[in-house]
Amino acid sequence: MNRPIPGTVEVAVRHILSDRTTGIFMRTRKVAWRDTDYRVRRPATGKQSVELICSVCEASLLAEVTDEARARRRSAVHLILAVLCAVVFVASLVYAIHVGGQVRPEGESGPALFPVSIVAIFVTFVAGPLFYLRRSGSNGVTMLDAPKPRRAHAIVPVRRTVVSTGRP
Ligand SMILES: [Zn+2]
Repeated sequence: MNRPIPGTVEVAVRHILSDRTTGIFMRTRKVAWRDTDYRVRRPATGKQSVELICSVCEASLLAEVTDEARARRRSAVHLILAVLCAVVFVASLVYAIHVGGQVRPEGESGPALFPVSIVAIFVTFVAGPLFYLRRSGSNGVTMLDAPKPRRAHAIVPVRRTVVSTGRP
């Protein structure tokens, strides 16, 4: 049981019960949800739309499932982008520290690349982790649409660790 079956992917329809942020200085976010697990069949090639029903509120969600190769490719692209961001971040940081620490005669502006490296540091600092998170979260299943009054849903990959429910 719970072993990955070729050609299928396990996802959960996440029904957000509550999403509250409390505190002024130390903000803590508490999200409560309930998942409905589904095993979705992947198409042989291309993409396919599937309908998933939330067991909590019976909302019907429209999801898009891509074939395995496409899902793997998308995940690989995100990983490459994350690694590139890390490389650019370190290189820009080293460069900015090196150039920023140089003493220049009055009136002479620094190299044109210096502001570029500062921008690169900030951009890659934000984008890198985002790409990395999307890599681990992308299994080729994305939510296309959810009914309007109950938009508080998400489709998440099911990660099986140790599941013991006591049932066979
Ligand atoms: Zn629901």
